[in-house]
Amino acid sequence: MNENKTVAVVGAGIVGLSCALWLQIKGFAVILIDPEKPGSGTSSGNAGTIADYGCIPVNSPKIFKQLPSLLFSKDSPLSIDLHYALTHLPWLFSFLKNCRTARVARIIRILGKLLQKTYQGLDPLIELSGSQYLLSQQGCLQVFKTEREWENAQADVQARKDQGVVFTQLDAGEIGELEPALKLPCVRGLLFDKASHVVNPQSLTTRYFDCFLAKQGRYVKQRVLLVDHKKDSLRVILEDGETLDADRVVIAAGAFSAQIDGTGAHRLPLDTERGYHVQYADRQSLLNRPVSWVAAGLYATPMDQGLRFAGTVEIAGYGQTMNPRNLDFLVRKSREMFDLPDKPDQEWLGFRPTFPDALPVIGYSPHSEYILFAFGHHHLGLTLAGITGKLIAELLNQEEPSHGIKAFSSRRFR
Ligand SMILES: Cc1cc2nc3c(=O)[nH]c(=O)nc-3n(C[C@H](O)[C@H](O)[C@H](O)COP(=O)(O)OP(=O)(O)OC[C@H]3O[C@@H](n4cnc5c(N)ncnc54)[C@H](O)[C@@H]3O)c2cc1C
Repeated sequence: MNENKTVAVVGAGIVGLSCALWLQIKGFAVILIDPEKPGSGTSSGNAGTIADYGCIPVNSPKIFKQLPSLLFSKDSPLSIDLHYALTHLPWLFSFLKNCRTARVARIIRILGKLLQKTYQGLDPLIELSGSQYLLSQQGCLQVFKTEREWENAQADVQARKDQGVVFTQLDAGEIGELEPALKLPCVRGLLFDKASHVVNPQSLTTRYFDCFLAKQGRYVKQRVLLVDHKKDSLRVILEDGETLDADRVVIAAGAFSAQIDGTGAHRLPLDTERGYHVQYADRQSLLNRPVSWVAAGLYATPMDQGLRFAGTVEIAGYGQTMNPRNLDFLVRKSREMFDLPDKPDQEWLGFRPTFPDALPVIGYSPHSEYILFAFGHHHLGLTLAGITGKLIAELLNQEEPSHGIKAFSSRRFR
């Protein structure tokens, strides 16, 4: 029945591609629209972790006490461009409001429950696209360099336990046995035994895209400017002046989703947490699994082309210029963790799509029941893309969604 219904998915990052594949599974005809190579944006340079244990948001009650040192220390993973901040005060105030204890507890509960469905959304796409070889099942490790770092993490450790996250606590000797090349002296570690990671996020999206095309998906390499309403359908206006007709539209353009007119997204408080990676070619054998040095806010991940250090949060908008401070921070920390050359072989900047309450928007636009939103997955887009796609496809197929979506409604910002 759905074959006669056309859904246009705007954005071919990991979230848009996951929506497109799930819609095809449900029998829809799908048009995928993106001016860039599918998956080549933020979805390509991340840390690769399928972090189903990642229910702790950046929002934290501790931030009020830590803010001065986070902002002004050379050794901080957070940086804020003052001019940008001053012109975006409502977002920052809303973010701080969502750092209150009760709000953070609520975010953790909501994310924790959604994260439990990670593999329900991911596994069918991995199988469909034949991408099993891109997933490594060695778990993920968090490490703590000092007793103080460990003590600071205790509230988060307990919160994860409360969400049913399974992990094993390690001492220094056990960390050394698992990761002998890690030279950072660590007092404690947490091994998320069941977690996995993608050894090449760009290859994963390419596999998804090839699978999408093989299932008669149509790709249009254009930027969407506007979504216009016709009587019972929608018209998508492209940058080259062409138009496309669709019965429904899914906006999945990551951090750029609010820039598309006619959808109602421009009213939402979507911003970006810029994040960086540096990568050392052919050094991946130094590590067996992703290792997060929690206090430094970074992951070291063995990718198939090298050892990648991904992290930092920079609030500075959408410009393409990289901040040397963030890159320098990652290089210093990576060389504190491992014996590595002075300079990495690759430097990269990405744009995490982030709402001030650290929850994505999944569901209908407040503007139209023909338009759906799937964006705002901040640090968890690779992890949550599959379940997001599943929920969007269920909604469009008029099924009861397999997970409650009320908390992800765009109407929560009214
Ligand atoms: C340093 C770093 C490390 C991270 N590590 C992890 C991790 O380990 N695990 C995890 O789960 N997540 C991680 N993330 C987060 C994750 O990468 C993002 O949440 C995810 O990539 C967002 O995917 P997306 O598809 O929503 O957006 P994107 O990947 O940004 O894709 C959006 C697409 O929309 C297109 N687009 C934009 N505007 C238009 C338009 N007008 N018309 C058509 N197309 C348009 C863009 O070209 C782009 O291809 C990390 C992020 C960073 C920065």
